[in-house]
Amino acid sequence: MSDLSRNGHGPERYAARARAMLTDFPHEAAEKAAALIAACYEGGGKVLVCGNGGSAMEAQHLVAELVGKFERDRASLPALALHQNPASLTAVANDYGYDDAFAHQVEALGAPGDVLVAISTSGSSENVARAVLAAREKGLATVGYLGGGGNRLGPLMDVPVTIGAPDTATIQAGHLVLTHTICGLVEEALFSNKAVFVDRDGTLIVNRHYGSDPDRIELLDGVADGLRALRGAGYKLVLVSNQSGVARGYFDEAAIGRMHDRLQKMLDAHGAALDGLEYCPHHPEGEIFPYAVECACRKPAPGMLRRAARKHGLNLSASWMVGDIAADVEAGKRAGARTVLVGPEPSPLPPDFRAAGFREVVGHILGEGVGGGLGEKAGSAAGARL
Ligand SMILES: [Zn+2]
Repeated sequence: MSDLSRNGHGPERYAARARAMLTDFPHEAAEKAAALIAACYEGGGKVLVCGNGGSAMEAQHLVAELVGKFERDRASLPALALHQNPASLTAVANDYGYDDAFAHQVEALGAPGDVLVAISTSGSSENVARAVLAAREKGLATVGYLGGGGNRLGPLMDVPVTIGAPDTATIQAGHLVLTHTICGLVEEALFSNKAVFVDRDGTLIVNRHYGSDPDRIELLDGVADGLRALRGAGYKLVLVSNQSGVARGYFDEAAIGRMHDRLQKMLDAHGAALDGLEYCPHHPEGEIFPYAVECACRKPAPGMLRRAARKHGLNLSASWMVGDIAADVEAGKRAGARTVLVGPEPSPLPPDFRAAGFREVVGHILGEGVGGGLGEKAGSAAGARL
């Protein structure tokens, strides 16, 4: 190391500043900010974010991680960056001045229970400060991504997170780490459950042609014990079933309700009741209004899995889809889950594992299958290839 770089004059000085900033990274404040945002989402709220220049890009970065995903496949989280509509931004700036450009949008879009994340490396941007005041007026909670000691904005915030660094670039680097910290903690808080999604006909029960008679439900071999074992291992159990017989006029939704009530009673007797039952009553070639439509829930679409993920706080990346046809495999993959195909049906998309029956499904998921618990890859390679 040259004397210049050791003294903070060489190209290493930027990394050295970032290292010093990370040493004093405000973990506790970041955790409080994440808890506030998680509570907002649990209450049905949304997150608004504002900042100027580089902070505007950081606002979009946070929004993208929340709306899309960070490290887990899971339900989408609502978030908006307040500069992302140029017409609104320029209209308000033109009519009222740039200092009010964000405040007007908080008034328009914010609701009590939402969170405003205000980003300012100086800790004192006027238009950001006005947005915070408008947010407090409307009953939003506020989180600050700040620098420069927090200055004016810090005392206005419910949770000010101040990056201790002397220069804008290093504060911005700290804000990026803050975004990832918050997103990781929010995902852990809201999407910690794992599930096994199970198809119904041909997977859990004997497949009868458009079956709707509760008296004819027959559990397949190994299903009751297998579901109980999965539940014991901490998996939520969620049925996801295409029931186009409704759209075709063969039976109505009340008949599905009777089927599922009986199925639940039968499983409950074995300590294996399901946590959720989702079904799709649609089919584009059906005849019954309003079911004869294309929809987002009929497998191979992943809509039922995504719906269940919202209801049960699921981490889809840690979940499994089990079914007996290719549409089950595709739906699972599109949702971000791993997949098991039971039985001999072909599938253009290869499942993660092929099983002869439900016992083998459960053995594989619990890591006890052929392959001796050496992990999914080993189990899959050694498992039955039908
Ligand atoms: Zn549907």
